[in-house]
Parts: sequence; structure tokens; C-alpha cells
Amino acid sequence: MFFKTIDFSKYSSIKVGQPTEVLMIEKGDAIPNNRYLIGGANNLLISPTPPPLMMLSKDFAYIDEKEGMLEIGAAMPTGRIVSYAKKHNIAGFEFCTKLPGTLGGMLAMNAGVKEYEIFNILHSVQIDGKWIAKETIEHGYRFAKLKGIATAARFEIYRGYSQELNNTLQALRANQPHDPSAGSAFKNPKNYAAGRLIEAVGLKGFRKGDMQWSHIHANFLINVESGTFEDAKYLIDLAKEKVLKEFGIALQEEIKLL
Ligand SMILES: Cc1cc2nc3c(=O)[nH]c(=O)nc-3n(C[C@H](O)[C@H](O)[C@H](O)COP(=O)(O)OP(=O)(O)OC[C@H]3O[C@@H](n4cnc5c(N)ncnc54)[C@H](O)[C@@H]3O)c2cc1C
Repeated sequence: MFFKTIDFSKYSSIKVGQPTEVLMIEKGDAIPNNRYLIGGANNLLISPTPPPLMMLSKDFAYIDEKEGMLEIGAAMPTGRIVSYAKKHNIAGFEFCTKLPGTLGGMLAMNAGVKEYEIFNILHSVQIDGKWIAKETIEHGYRFAKLKGIATAARFEIYRGYSQELNNTLQALRANQPHDPSAGSAFKNPKNYAAGRLIEAVGLKGFRKGDMQWSHIHANFLINVESGTFEDAKYLIDLAKEKVLKEFGIALQEEIKLL
């Protein structure tokens, strides 16, 4: 293992944060249990005082076909997984198109689009060197209780990559802003769209400093230029407070605040 300085104002998708020492885990290293693991930082908001951080090195970015299964290392970026699936005509990964991150981040978040989620196609996850069957892992809408750091996952192989499905799911992103963000700030409460609730309490387009609830999609907290953690946190708390007051609904963050 070794330390690497990562500037989160550049690395994180929302472009908030500062240069921070991150412990890089290499193959064969014992994974510390007193550090927070980050993946591609596409779902994170880094404070000026984050907990000690670690990250899986490129040793964990691989795809292998083993024993009739697809084994993917947890540091593998989603874009490369989709390219592999397309090239080898493997079905199931179409929804990962334009869903930024690593496999590890997808597993921890049970990332997905509409009814397509990573747990639907998952077979098992490697944690602490053991293969854990999907059925034994509690999971649901945008969460999975992994009980440790995922180093790899296995998927059964079904042939038939669908470019049509890829295109359909990609088209759903037409109403998403291109500005730096961490994707949806809040999970959708049952029977509601978080963006609609934020809009209904008058916060669509509302700005504090350089952070803003996007005009294009109100559940996207965007960084207009040099937004800070404090301004982002202010807007998150404001939305929660207003939606609770006006609708009695407690919004729950999808973004992880560190
Ligand atoms: C423009 C944009 C669009 C997005 N669209 C979607 C979407 O359609 N659907 C969706 O679900 N999400 C979406 N997201 C959010 C994000 O892409 C996903 O949550 C993604 O899975 C995050 O992966 P990551 O590697 O960046 O994880 P990070 O943001 O680095 O981490 C997220 C969480 O995963 C945990 N984690 C990371 N790696 C591991 C590991 N190996 N083992 C255990 N825990 C781990 C971290 O501790 C953290 O709690 C979007 C984000 C952006 C910026």
C-alpha cells in the first residue's frame, strides 16, 4: 500500500474538496478497517475534514471470464464494463452506460436506472477473500449492506448485449444537467420524485454561493464554478427542512457526505 494525494476539487464528480492523502490498497494488502473507502467519487461530497480515506488501486481493475462467470474487480470503471459487455455480446450491463463510477461504488449503492439495478444481475461479491452469495446480502433501492469492502464480484454470463436498451436508458438522461454534480442528491421517497418535491417548495434553480439546485433537474445539486461543501450542505439541509415542513416527507440523502 502507498499514499497518494487526490485533489477532490478535480477528482470528485461534483468538483468539491481539497487535496487529501488517500491510502491506496494493492493486491494482497490487508484492508484497514479504520478508513473510509472511496471509489470513483461520483456519489460523494467531501468536507474540509473528511475521515481517513482509502481506495483500491488498479490491481482491482480487471475483467476475467472464469468458470463460466464474469469476474470483475471492484475498481473497474463502469464505462469499461459496458465496453467489455458490448464487445463480448454480454447482456445485463446496458444500464451502466453513462452511470459514472466503479463496480465497488455500484455494489455499495445498488446503483441502477429504473428497474435495472446491479443486484438484479449480480451472482456473488468477494469480501475478505470470501465469495458471498447475493441472496445473503440485504439490499434495496440505492443501498446494500455489504459488511465489508468488496474487492470483486461475479456475474452469470448471458449472451445478447442490447444496443436498443442501452439507447433507451441513455435517452432518459436527456433531462440531466451536464454541470458537475454527484447525480441525484436525494433518494426518491416512495411514490414521489425528490426533484418534484424540491421544485414544489420553490428551490429549483435556488443558489447559494456557487452551488445550486439545477434548473434542469431539481434533484441535481450542481457546482456552478467553485462551490464549497458548506454551501452544498446548506442547500441539502434547506431542501430537507422545506420538504418536511410542507409535505411531511423526510428526504434521505443519496449522496454520501464525508
Ligand atoms: C452525472 C451522474 C449521473 C448519475 N446517475 C446515476 C444513476 O442513474 N443511477 C445511480 O444509481 N447512480 C447514479 N449516479 C451516482 C453514482 O454514479 C453511483 O452511485 C456510482 O455507483 C458511484 O460509484 P463510485 O465508484 O463513484 O462510488 P463513490 O462515490 O466513490 O462511493 C459511493 C459509496 O460506495 C462505497 N464503495 C465504493 N467502492 C466500494 C467497495 N469496493 N466496497 C464497498 N463499498 C464501496 C463508498 O464507501 C461510498 O459509500 C450518478 C452520478 C453522476 C455524477
